[in-house]
Amino acid sequence: MSLKRTKIVDIFDASLVGQQVCVKGWVRTRRGNKNVQFVALNDGSTIKNIQVVVDLAKFSEEELKPITTGSSLCVEGLLVESQGKGQTCEIQAEKIEIYGTADPESYPLQKKGHTMEFLRDIAHLRPRTNTFGAVFRIRHNMAIAIHRFFHERGFFYFHTPIITASDCEGAGQMFQVTTMNLYDLKKDENGSIRYDSDFFGKQASLTVSGQLEGELAATALGAIYTFGPTFRAENSNTPRHLAEFWMIEPEVAFNDIIDNMDLAEDFIKYCVKWALDNCYDDVKFLNDMFDKELIERLEGVLKQDFVRLTYTEGIKILEDAVAGGHKFEFPVYWGVDLASEHERFLVEEHFKRPVILTDYPKEIKAFYMKQNEDGKTVRAMDVLFPKIGEIIGGSEREESYDKLVARIEELNIPMKDMWWYLETRKFGTVPHSGFGLGFERLLLFVTGMSNIRDVIPFPRTPNNAEF
Ligand code: ATP
Ligand code: MN
Repeated sequence: MSLKRTKIVDIFDASLVGQQVCVKGWVRTRRGNKNVQFVALNDGSTIKNIQVVVDLAKFSEEELKPITTGSSLCVEGLLVESQGKGQTCEIQAEKIEIYGTADPESYPLQKKGHTMEFLRDIAHLRPRTNTFGAVFRIRHNMAIAIHRFFHERGFFYFHTPIITASDCEGAGQMFQVTTMNLYDLKKDENGSIRYDSDFFGKQASLTVSGQLEGELAATALGAIYTFGPTFRAENSNTPRHLAEFWMIEPEVAFNDIIDNMDLAEDFIKYCVKWALDNCYDDVKFLNDMFDKELIERLEGVLKQDFVRLTYTEGIKILEDAVAGGHKFEFPVYWGVDLASEHERFLVEEHFKRPVILTDYPKEIKAFYMKQNEDGKTVRAMDVLFPKIGEIIGGSEREESYDKLVARIEELNIPMKDMWWYLETRKFGTVPHSGFGLGFERLLLFVTGMSNIRDVIPFPRTPNNAEF
């Protein structure tokens, strides 16, 4: 085979019609009769297959026998306008080379529709399905959109550590990193584990957030963002939680909470628009297959301003709903950490558009959030989305050294691990704000998938780290 390969995504370019082309890919289906066979070939570059027309006058049954679903081919032939419905062009095969066969007895991805659960069990093969091909192309495109968004606005991509000795939220649920022999742990006289002999000389974990280091960067470079893996050992088996997920965390010096809300809203809209502009075929496929309102929902988000209201106002609406007979699984009262059902009620039923809730009770938010005058609330903001609930969590940060230290002491957070963080407030402190967007939550929204395990190639969840 001598012709240069054309990717299938480029083959539908009208200027190629009438030329000899070469395509390579995997067989999706083969059908036909004893005169002519039609092979649908896909190479992953697009959701579309190219139809290869095989004239049985030119090829023997024997030669075609190994061409079954999942086998891999190189095909050369003439690109012609298609007679068939739904195709713009097709290839009249002249040469076919078979790279690898896929025994129909054992290859699991035969034509029939599979459940999402089954496909999760074969996560090593599921990218070959239309659905997962679409999801992972969109995932790539969203990553590009994110970098472009921030780069265009003068933000610097800052790499924060994956292994950390500090816990950003001041709470547990971290995965430990150790090289200690777990069968022979060294303990002190009180029975506590002696980490001084461990690899880092102290207890270390996988990061739950790059924010604290992001704040160091923002108070030097002005505006930064992180985009990296994040780990939470929370034993919550929900369709919205992973033990390993990717998070985007912008942090901006001199931004207050209003600037922060504006940034979050612009950012999500930019990403959603990017998906519609650059992944339309894939989004349309997911719309037609799984979620007939997907495109409408994406376009809806672009058209509307997000509602902004305080937590206290949000609770009032939820309490009124309860008084009016609406049933929630979890109780509603001022001070409660909202459950996804509450967030979704505000978004889907009450306002019918995305909501940014601000000024949460300080007890349910992290120590670093800016304290309000009322002494009860902090300048937090959560962005709530249809079908998802919380997609972004952020805040203006407490820039006063004294107030921050007071809060750390109040919460009994060990200060010795925080000295470097506190120096941002000691030396040239400034107002600043930031937020965290869960990359897979954004993907849930953009793809319309209903389980977070289906928007990351290899999900890690309790009792599951296969592949
Ligand atoms: P939730 O209340 O939904 O568990 P959170 O308040 O614990 O989320 P934050 O600490 O605010 O989450 O993290 C910032 C963002 O990271 C969230 O808004 C969400 O988009 C995402 N996120 C948090 N935890 C997870 C997880 N386990 N899996 C996937 N994404 C997550
Ligand atoms: Mn949050």
